[in-house]
Amino acid sequence: NAPVIAIDGPSGTGKGTVCGRLAALLGWHLLDSGALYRLVALVAERSGTAGSDEAGLSRLAREMPLEFVKGEGETPIRALLDGEDVTAAIRAESISRLASEVAAHPGVRQALLIRQRAARRPPGLIADGRDMGTVVFPDAPVKLFLTAGPEERARRRYKQLKDKGIGVNLRQLSAELAERDARDSERAISPLKPATDAVVVDTTGIDIETVMQRVLAQVTE
Ligand code: C5P
Repeated sequence: NAPVIAIDGPSGTGKGTVCGRLAALLGWHLLDSGALYRLVALVAERSGTAGSDEAGLSRLAREMPLEFVKGEGETPIRALLDGEDVTAAIRAESISRLASEVAAHPGVRQALLIRQRAARRPPGLIADGRDMGTVVFPDAPVKLFLTAGPEERARRRYKQLKDKGIGVNLRQLSAELAERDARDSERAISPLKPATDAVVVDTTGIDIETVMQRVLAQVTE
């Protein structure tokens, strides 16, 4: 079995950036598991499948014709849906909301479990998500859980979206982030929480270079 570095935590903790950099540094594959939930949400929105329709959503999760291809810079991977590049479309706030609804269904999680485990290939995998260390790759030799205070996470998300040309209201973004965190942490299946053997890294007030140093210290230990 190829080695896995599992990196979990809520959004706005620098998790995506850390995972992208680690994958580039080590030359390992990268799994953005959040993109899978976002893709299910996008297909659901387009096909008029309700966020409450577990059977319909699970079928979409199993059958959606997707492919990940290598991107560059801040976008290390691009998501293709039946050949169409939907990398930007899955970042819309409406999709963020629907993705966290979709992610609460056991049938959807089960369908995506298979796709996620298939991403484990030599020389190794950087797995970015919410339940990488707890459920998807419980045997990962390195598990990290990134956290940050709520205001800072909202500010980072705001900047991320702004850099992509997406204008949002900071207060509204904070409220939506809090709502999504609550849903991710309180759901019955695979709730967002650190694995018992994960190292928690608090990134509040710390720049990305310093976060990378702390992460690398764990990886090279
Ligand atoms: O990480 P990202 O914001 O792209 O994830 C979108 C949503 O997908 C999260 O809010 C969460 O509800 C869900 N998700 C999950 N398990 C994962 C990754 C993402 O439930 N491993």
